[in-house]
Amino acid sequence: MALIIGNWKMYKTIEEAIAFVERVAPRVGEGQEVGLAVPFTAIHPAVEAAKGSPLLIGGQNMHSAEEGAFTGEIAGRMLVDAGASFVLLGHSERRHIFGETDEMIHNKLKKAVEVGLRPVLCVGETLEQHRSGEAKEVIAHQLHAATEGVADLSSLVVAYEPVWAIGTGETATPEWAVEMHKRCHEVIHAPVLYGGSVKPSNAADLLARDEIDGVLVGGASLDPESFLEIVGG
Ligand code: PEP
Repeated sequence: MALIIGNWKMYKTIEEAIAFVERVAPRVGEGQEVGLAVPFTAIHPAVEAAKGSPLLIGGQNMHSAEEGAFTGEIAGRMLVDAGASFVLLGHSERRHIFGETDEMIHNKLKKAVEVGLRPVLCVGETLEQHRSGEAKEVIAHQLHAATEGVADLSSLVVAYEPVWAIGTGETATPEWAVEMHKRCHEVIHAPVLYGGSVKPSNAADLLARDEIDGVLVGGASLDPESFLEIVGG
């Protein structure tokens, strides 16, 4: 069964989030694995709106510390407290816009596991790395750096998201995605999602491949109808 996660990024008020979940949650079938990574303010209301459905709600980031003087940050246990069951870690926007390093992502991953959040670890090469043929090396390094020494990786999910395909409308070909997913599977034992301009018109072709265990959807997860088309609800 494919795992399908929407990433809303910095979109949707509480009211908009509730309306979306009320539309989508009843269409998620028992046994389907579907999640939404929503803004912090929408986590609790979305969890309440999703009650009784298998739809999972998660966060998009967290700090690695238990608590502390970190103005503007959020702790993993606060996400759990709000009802989140998973958290995206190392999304390329966090790495490239906010300067998150492999070490920071490693510490966040350790903490997420400790507090009981399912980590969705995002990895992917930039366009430059892609063009210079370094993609496989880059993702193997990102996977090792984030997970080395983490005792329990049983809940880990990996998302392979080529940076050049995120929000650009340019999707990797299923053949390229399959190659990269194979490399991820060699490095780590975890389901691997594909992310990068997934939309209703290309999702089925990606999801049909054995190596692709699901998709992480940005832009196309903001509209309930397009998200439902991808989910198949
Ligand atoms: C993402 O934000 O993880 C993503 C893949 O975005 P998009 O689907 O818009 O490319």
